[in-house]
Amino acid sequence: MDANADADTVTKTKVTALPGDGIGPEVMQATMRILEAANAPIEWEMAEAGAEVFKKGLITGVPRETLDSISRNGLALKSPLETPVGFGGKSANVTLRKHFELYANIRPVRELPGVTTPFSGRGIDMVIVRENVEDVYAGIEHMQTTTVAQCLKLMTAPGCERIIRAAFALAAAEERKHVTCATKANIMKLTEGLMKRVFEKVGPEFSEFKQDHIIIDNCAHQLVIAPEQFDVIVTSNMNGDIISDLAAGLVGGLGIAPSSNLGDHAAMFEAVHGSAPQIAGKGLANPTALLSAAIMLLRHISAFEVAETVEQALFITLAEGKNLTGDLSPKGHGVGTAAFTDQVIANLGRSSNLPSRVYSKLELKAWPELTAHTEPDTRELVGIDVFLESGLGSEELGRSLEEIAQDTPFRLNGVSNRGVQVYPATGGQTFLVDHFAARFMLKQPIPLNASSANGQAEISYLVQRIGAKFAWMHIEKLQRFDGKDAFERPQGEG
Ligand code: NAD
Repeated sequence: MDANADADTVTKTKVTALPGDGIGPEVMQATMRILEAANAPIEWEMAEAGAEVFKKGLITGVPRETLDSISRNGLALKSPLETPVGFGGKSANVTLRKHFELYANIRPVRELPGVTTPFSGRGIDMVIVRENVEDVYAGIEHMQTTTVAQCLKLMTAPGCERIIRAAFALAAAEERKHVTCATKANIMKLTEGLMKRVFEKVGPEFSEFKQDHIIIDNCAHQLVIAPEQFDVIVTSNMNGDIISDLAAGLVGGLGIAPSSNLGDHAAMFEAVHGSAPQIAGKGLANPTALLSAAIMLLRHISAFEVAETVEQALFITLAEGKNLTGDLSPKGHGVGTAAFTDQVIANLGRSSNLPSRVYSKLELKAWPELTAHTEPDTRELVGIDVFLESGLGSEELGRSLEEIAQDTPFRLNGVSNRGVQVYPATGGQTFLVDHFAARFMLKQPIPLNASSANGQAEISYLVQRIGAKFAWMHIEKLQRFDGKDAFERPQGEG
């Protein structure tokens, strides 16, 4: 095929390019060179994010001009960005994903020709669809006491539904057959369980696909035992982060794994790997992952033919094993980024033995079309959990809180420490920290249908009494929807 065909007649799509940190600029330059040689219909708009931006004191790591550029173009190709560790700057990657609500992280994992691993020949060809903006990665964290840290795991019905719908849309676009939902619903019944429930509710609309649910730890196990059984896996943010790295390891590692981050209004394509500071600036980095992300970008803009030309040139380069970078070659036989890039360019127009998959444009559905959630007919407030800091033993604390609850609309149900009931004592051997949850149940439940603010006066009264004696950290309302508890019980209760 002539890669130069129609080059002058094609309208170019503007894409924001972020060269990033470490090996980022090297793999970006290699990718751009290959795309240019293939006459890809893309016009780049260069933009800044990451380490240099943090150094200037901007804690988001992404300047306004970069956000504006991505907003205008709706498309970005991004090299890895360094994340400051610990306190201080936020992850610039997470900033970008959250700013543009890029909720679907698509991570294809396919055996590549010439990349030999212990799993070669097993026919691994799957896509992990990871929820990208909710879960513990929302980064809502607070120290509760000087020794107790808390991270809120927020998962929402619309968040679960749109990622599940995205997984089915992807399965359809790539003519895949099987969608697996992987969760930890057996332990986190309300958060991870929500994703499982939404999957089961939405699934019947897509009856052309085989569907099943798997517990995430078994999913990790099955990915190693029999990875070929998976086609599309949809999962929550942290689960997806971990299993997609694991899955990338099955086919040759992070150095070759691409991903896209899709939202309703923007799409960002990137390598899964980081900035590899150890080899940065040495011209040794493998650009395969970013190039593969650029191939996903080409398909996203419906440039299917150029995408296939570049993909086949990459496949044949890997298959023939000439001029591969050090990470893919026997020790001492690797070439640099530039020589590998030249080889891919030389192979443009050639085809490998591994055909490109079937792809059509992936259409995500916008929020108004979400249907899984239905409002309950009745909603009531039945109690509160008050999290408080105390150095007291559990007996003394429990008795004191029982006394405080007297003459209030509440009674003390129990006290727990790190999710385990410690008052009334259960005989368990719980290690105590200075952070307790006291569960108070209302003597009379308060209906919340008329106003979800009902009951706040009663709560304030109790909390004021508690505050006179103890330092409380936060309060959680205990609700019942349609007569069912909308909260979990501590271990050992009842
Ligand atoms: P890393 O992915 O940068 O490196 C892991 C290992 O893989 C290293 O041995 C590295 O040399 C090698 N490697 C990675 N990409 C390669 C390539 N293209 N060619 C050859 N070898 C390659 O992970 P890390 O060291 O944990 O992270 C380094 C930095 O990157 C951190 O600041 C981290 O926060 C950041 N990071 C960014 C992203 C992103 O931008 N999406 C993703 C992961 C990590």
